Amino acid sequence: KLTLFWFRRDLRLEDNTGLYYALQQEENVLPLFIFDQNILEKLEDKDDARVGFIHDQISRLKSELEEKGSSLLVKIGKPIEVYQELAQEYDLQAVYTNRDYEPYAKERDQAVEKLLKEQKIDFYTFKDQMIFEPGEVLNGSGEFYKVFTPFSKVWLDQFKKQNIEALSYFHWKNLYQTKALELPSLEKVGFIRSKIEIPPRQTDEEIIAHYDKTRNFPAKSGTSRLGIHLRFGTISIRNLALQAAKLNDTYLNELIWREFYMTILAYNPQVVDKAFKPAYDQIPWRNNEEEFKAWCEGKTGYPIVDAGMRELNTTGYMHNRVRMIVASFLTKHLLIDWRWGEAYFARKLLDFELASNNGGWQWAAGTGTDAQPYFRVFNPESQTEKFDKDLKYIKKWIPELNSKEYPKPIVDHKFARQRALDTYKEALNS
Ligand code: FAD
Repeated sequence: KLTLFWFRRDLRLEDNTGLYYALQQEENVLPLFIFDQNILEKLEDKDDARVGFIHDQISRLKSELEEKGSSLLVKIGKPIEVYQELAQEYDLQAVYTNRDYEPYAKERDQAVEKLLKEQKIDFYTFKDQMIFEPGEVLNGSGEFYKVFTPFSKVWLDQFKKQNIEALSYFHWKNLYQTKALELPSLEKVGFIRSKIEIPPRQTDEEIIAHYDKTRNFPAKSGTSRLGIHLRFGTISIRNLALQAAKLNDTYLNELIWREFYMTILAYNPQVVDKAFKPAYDQIPWRNNEEEFKAWCEGKTGYPIVDAGMRELNTTGYMHNRVRMIVASFLTKHLLIDWRWGEAYFARKLLDFELASNNGGWQWAAGTGTDAQPYFRVFNPESQTEKFDKDLKYIKKWIPELNSKEYPKPIVDHKFARQRALDTYKEALNS
């Protein structure tokens, strides 16, 4: 009898909760990865760098498992169909996996569990990608927090009280011993390699230690760039949070934001396409397609906005301060629906995370959980003055800044600000 451990967003052997328990409780554990066509067929770009990244990580995991005398079974398809075949092909005892809280993932896992149970195959899931999963940080009445600050207080309190530790001493002897299995090429998965580089899978203690002082300046290497590794579980959130707790409270606080938005999404799956505050769905977005195109291409004539969009288009990354500025600009200055911006980010960001992206966009548009009123409209000029005073970041991305080629501002700041305030006010009062 064989037990499968199904890797999804936990692409590492160390401190992998589901894998740990599979090896502790079962014999003949064969790890599995499925290139999920339900997800892949929605990606617009054949050279999507994230798929190349996953392929590299799968290849690394496979070698690591082969050093232990086992291998990695890699399939391409829709999980339900893959499991139908696997249940025919192998004498399966159980499937172990780590929980994923996104709406699609929950639906997929329910369907897989049902199919497996019908065939008398057990399905066990574990908490792995969060320190406290949805339902573990609740207010006195047992409800989820709608506001970050009280959530973060309870989170920290629990974190300090509970002795969170990374798992060690894995029972590797319980891995299924087999000859090396085949790894389908990236082309076979339907993708080609991107030129975009992926940040290293390593924490830089120096950066984390100084994070509170450097994190707001896009010209500095002042943030950890670990987003993609948290997204795909190539590093362990427990190891990172324990490190952060020693080195820098502000950094730890950002990891709490990640769990806050994951919790909001888990309890409010409607936010995927609706405002968290329903009244804000009344806003009559202008949705001018040409202006949207100029924003996407970094040609609005607002240097800090354009630098950010060009950084995103070139590297798959944008600094957080600049994400806030470009998102505010799109939703307030141009009155373009936050869902358009969110979708563009989802396509381009290496670290795209549904919960944080949605949370970040709804924050910028004023439609989300944030208690701040909608009339906070970022002024691109004063943001530049504060965070990129010597224009180092801007000049890196806009070499033609002071030439005729650089476009004139797409809209006047004062006019746009007033238009946004009037539009929001009218929509919310009607
Ligand atoms: P660091 O600053 O080094 O932070 C470490 C980690 O903490 C991040 O990797 C991330 O996992 C988490 N984190 C930091 N800030 C936030 C935050 N505000 N909300 C939630 N988690 C946070 N983050 C994503 O991971 N994926 C997204 O798709 C995403 N979209 C965003 C969209 C908008 C409009 C905005 C304003 C923010 C978005 N963020 C998103 C949050 C933040 O910008 C990124 O997490 C951060 O810039 C990633 O860079 P880093 O890895 O160097 O982060």
